[in-house]
Amino acid sequence: MNKQFGWWFFTCGNQILVIPQGERIPYGDVEDLPLPDLDFSKVERFSHYQGEACLRLELAEPIDLGMGEWIELRASMAVLNSQLFDLVGKAQQFALFLKTHRFCGSCGEALERVDWELAMQCQQCGFRAYPRISPSIIVLISHGNKVLLANHRRHQKQEQPIYTAIAGFVEAGETLEHTVHREVREETGLRIKNLRYWKSQPWAFPHSLMAAYFAEYDEGEIQIDRRELADAQWFDVSQLPHLPPPGTIAREMIDHWSEQVTHN
Ligand SMILES: [Zn+2]
Repeated sequence: MNKQFGWWFFTCGNQILVIPQGERIPYGDVEDLPLPDLDFSKVERFSHYQGEACLRLELAEPIDLGMGEWIELRASMAVLNSQLFDLVGKAQQFALFLKTHRFCGSCGEALERVDWELAMQCQQCGFRAYPRISPSIIVLISHGNKVLLANHRRHQKQEQPIYTAIAGFVEAGETLEHTVHREVREETGLRIKNLRYWKSQPWAFPHSLMAAYFAEYDEGEIQIDRRELADAQWFDVSQLPHLPPPGTIAREMIDHWSEQVTHN
């Protein structure tokens, strides 16, 4: 097993190197890549893609590697296929995990890397730490030909405010369904019915796993939580506002819903 052959995820903080050709991630033997002298002892093998290893090397500076360009990790969503983008997320989460789990949270000893799974182990007390994953939900609420979309306070200042589905983190002890009903009630004051699970998406900024649901309006008037939202409205399928970019699960849900409504 050659540790230096595979898909190369060169990262630097929140940036990644992409090349103009092929799958956009450098591929091959380290000897054959036109790279300057780098410290390859720090290469981390974190996954597989098309049967070959995914290798990550974090650089201190976004230096010229003689190929490709550095782009923001999030922006790589528009450039990479969804499988590779998920791998970028995995690399990022793994890097964050290693950086924040150097010592045992139980006895304080230095942790050591487990070689057969993504974990860190304490040789002193046996404690084992895994990358943190925070479950969250996102729900698209419809009412006939209308859909409820909200403008979050953090998107408020943008020139064209983005309107998206309702989302939130799962609290300890909750089921996913409970979270959906609670978030909708807290953020919009509405009650919903006919909750349907659709699919999930890992989102590595920083470490969530989103479960996506469709739901229908049941009762209530919109009363937004001003700490979270700047606005929430019912939008007709023919007059949708500025939406989240393609590739996000929110956009996928809105597109899926509007296609169904338009063709019925
Ligand atoms: Zn320990």
